[in-house]
Amino acid sequence: MNKSLSAAFTAEIVNRFSSDFITFAPEELATYGRDWTRVYDAAPSAVVFPRSSEDVSSLLKLCSSHGIAVVPSGGRTGLSGGAVAANGEVVLSMVRMNKIFPVDVLSSTVRVQAGAVTQAVHEFCQPLGLTWPIDFSSKGSSHVGGNIATNAGGQRVIRYGLTRNWVNGLQVVTMNGDILELNGALQKNNTGMDLCQLFIGTEGTLGVITEATLRLTPLPLHTELFFFATSSLRAALDLLKHTKLNGPFKILTFEYLSNDCLESVLQFGAHKSPFNSSSDSYVLLEVECEDSERQKERLDDWMRFAIETNLITDGVLAQSHEERNQLWALREVVSESLSAQGQVHKNDVALPIANLDEFANDMQSLLSRNYPHLKLFLFGHLGDGNFHVNFLKPRDMEKAQFLEICHAADVEMFEAVRKYGGSVSAEHGIGLLKKAALSYSRSPAELRIFKQIKQALDPQNLLNPGKIFD
Ligand SMILES: Cc1cc2nc3c(=O)[nH]c(=O)nc-3n(C[C@H](O)[C@H](O)[C@H](O)COP(=O)(O)OP(=O)(O)OC[C@H]3O[C@@H](n4cnc5c(N)ncnc54)[C@H](O)[C@@H]3O)c2cc1C
Repeated sequence: MNKSLSAAFTAEIVNRFSSDFITFAPEELATYGRDWTRVYDAAPSAVVFPRSSEDVSSLLKLCSSHGIAVVPSGGRTGLSGGAVAANGEVVLSMVRMNKIFPVDVLSSTVRVQAGAVTQAVHEFCQPLGLTWPIDFSSKGSSHVGGNIATNAGGQRVIRYGLTRNWVNGLQVVTMNGDILELNGALQKNNTGMDLCQLFIGTEGTLGVITEATLRLTPLPLHTELFFFATSSLRAALDLLKHTKLNGPFKILTFEYLSNDCLESVLQFGAHKSPFNSSSDSYVLLEVECEDSERQKERLDDWMRFAIETNLITDGVLAQSHEERNQLWALREVVSESLSAQGQVHKNDVALPIANLDEFANDMQSLLSRNYPHLKLFLFGHLGDGNFHVNFLKPRDMEKAQFLEICHAADVEMFEAVRKYGGSVSAEHGIGLLKKAALSYSRSPAELRIFKQIKQALDPQNLLNPGKIFD
């Protein structure tokens, strides 16, 4: 791995690229060498800013011939250390490749460069009544390339599925400099292996995504937002079942937070619970439905039934744009409110929905039996079987002791994840942070195939080395 770049390499960079292509400035190295995890020290040897796919191709060829390791970098909102450069790598930032080409309304697609910011794509397509339905609170900073490289999830997976469903084609540059055009705008293409899908979710370890043709869908015509209190997680899951079977609407979002999470949000900033008393659990439900008086009656009837059958203990329907934002904030601010209290240890696991309740009960018993100092904060995308499992460091505990206990608890939690047929990473990826956990979700035979594919595309192990697996 690059400890420092050779004079011959830097001379070639200066010869081939514009003067602002590369930087060695310490503050830029610190900024571009890390992601949102804030766990690893950034230590890249340089940051480069290509403007075109040809720039990326020339750079990767040059790095291959000099044996220089490269870390692709998007909006750096990743939560697994995938974009971290901690070992003198060259960071390849996509910030300058942020063009969005005209929307193709006939095929409902838009081609973008990989550095386009997720929210900018939404804003670009909105006037045409279309959207790329990848949506979460970091969308103002994350890049399309980063979303694709992490196969990002978010709040609307229950309705639309993961990012990979919304990628029609990719342009990818491999470590030897080849520029691959994979599928483009084709709706049908039955010509052998689907290489476009291969690059999705592989966290920049197989190739650098330079452009993407994204699938678009009509914007929901009318949406309503509910916030419910439920007596337990079990009741929240019963509500999910009732919602799927009988809701007079299409579900867009079904999010969960425990009372401890809500308490954390209420202590943090100017947030207010819509209820007078507290409950065990809460659900944020966003739906797409008609905008009519008849529909309002249907929603009222549906909510009354949910109260009468004890699926919910209380509930509100947002009456204004402002109320919607306030209710959304109760879920979206959980993570930030916990971080404001101190050090947080995070996990992001997926379970078959049918096993979520048993898994959560196992976690509670495990913590009270073996880790009584750890307080569990449970929230996430319940409708997709995705829990964010967070532990907050007790004020009087040393950081090292906290991490030691968390890692021991992780091992037992991952055993439970395996027992219930779950995944150790629902949507945040593996990166550096979850490498040790990968074998709980992937078999030795699968890991062998991962390594063979990596070897085929990056035989010198120069592209994002040490991410996902060693
Ligand atoms: C507040 C907050 C909320 C979040 N909520 C969610 C959520 O609900 N759902 C969810 O899935 N994630 C969520 N995330 C995580 C994160 O936003 C996503 O993983 C996002 O897709 C990362 O995009 P990025 O551009 O920031 O990627 P980065 O962090 O820059 O990189 C992520 C990975 O992709 C690789 N990469 C980046 N660009 C390219 C490229 N052009 N070619 C090849 N590889 C590339 C990097 O090497 C790295 O391995 C959240 C993060 C924050 C901070």
